[in-house]
Amino acid sequence: MNDTNYEEMYDIIIVGAGPVGLFAGYYASLRDVKVLIVEAQETLGGQVTTLYPDKKIWDVAGLAGVSGRQLIDGLVKQVQRFKVPVLTNTRVTDLVKKDDIFTLALNDGTEHLQAKSVILATGKGAFEPRRLQVANEKALQSKGLAYMATDLSVYAGKRVAVLGGGDSAVDLANELASYAETTYLIHRREAFRAMEQSVKELEASSVIKETPYKVQAVDENAGKGLTVKLVDPKNEALSKDLVVDELIVQYGFKTAGQAERHWTIALDWDKAGLQVKDQVKTKQAGLFAIGDLSSYADHVDLIATGFGQAPAAVNAAIALIAPEKGGPGHSSSLPIDD
Ligand SMILES: Cc1cc2nc3c(=O)[nH]c(=O)nc-3n(C[C@H](O)[C@H](O)[C@H](O)COP(=O)(O)OP(=O)(O)OC[C@H]3O[C@@H](n4cnc5c(N)ncnc54)[C@H](O)[C@@H]3O)c2cc1C
Repeated sequence: MNDTNYEEMYDIIIVGAGPVGLFAGYYASLRDVKVLIVEAQETLGGQVTTLYPDKKIWDVAGLAGVSGRQLIDGLVKQVQRFKVPVLTNTRVTDLVKKDDIFTLALNDGTEHLQAKSVILATGKGAFEPRRLQVANEKALQSKGLAYMATDLSVYAGKRVAVLGGGDSAVDLANELASYAETTYLIHRREAFRAMEQSVKELEASSVIKETPYKVQAVDENAGKGLTVKLVDPKNEALSKDLVVDELIVQYGFKTAGQAERHWTIALDWDKAGLQVKDQVKTKQAGLFAIGDLSSYADHVDLIATGFGQAPAAVNAAIALIAPEKGGPGHSSSLPIDD
């Protein structure tokens, strides 16, 4: 969106258009306030769009088994329904509060936005995958080694190995079983750390489990796939070779840290993120943090967590900046035309 009026005073600016920021924007529009969503990337949907658009998601209420892409499509449709403006390709680089008004510096600081309240939904910051520790890792990336599987149809009829033992690895292996000719799941332990139902699905699937094994080396076979040398982590004399076409590493992601930690505004940070009380409120009145960014006791980094925080933050913002509006009703009591 390029027609943003930078002179406008917004009621609420939401920073970040991951699933949580998108839902917050939609909910704010249900409450009929002047809202804007600002997103650093060109695409909407945060981690879901970037990292796992084809993975199925089992723990969003009412949508068991929805793909990442379907979930984000639905959220974008909701946002579009009330024409919530979304400013993409725009990174917020600083935040200042003066006389109860927030000023957001954008990109290189040439443009600014102003709002009476701000909801930060910036996630965990830039992220990168934990890499496979083999000497030729870089060279293998153009030969079948990958860290993301954004389109599962490309694996049709191939021999594919997934590395890892957590949710992402198990879910991906389960999904691949209906595309690939053969799917292997390689994990250094016998037990998998995924959701119990996903492990049950794995047990019932055609996925071949290679455990307990770690990858010691990967060699190219002159256009005929990759030979993956597996060794038992406790006894390297026990080894075997596996020949596959594609190798997808799912060892999780590490974050490069949140640039927000260096913004001008004074905030309390801990290892897990931006500290909030009542699950959404930062120490600055009118400034809220939701989703993966937020830190409080027992917080879990799940989409459902952020979906609960979003209405709480919007309603708390409205109670502060427009108390005359009163509390929220249910959406079913709002005048929405179908
Ligand atoms: C591989 C994997 C699988 C997962 N599977 C599941 C699952 O099955 N179920 C589940 O519930 N959760 C799952 N999660 C976790 C889930 O994706 C996160 O909890 C969720 O994405 C958090 O949403 P968010 O909107 O808070 O943050 P994000 O999705 O991280 O979105 C944050 C957005 O803010 C933008 N942003 C950041 N900084 C700025 C800035 N300064 N200016 C403007 N924009 C900015 C980013 O570009 C990004 O688009 C998974 C995570 C991973 C990595």
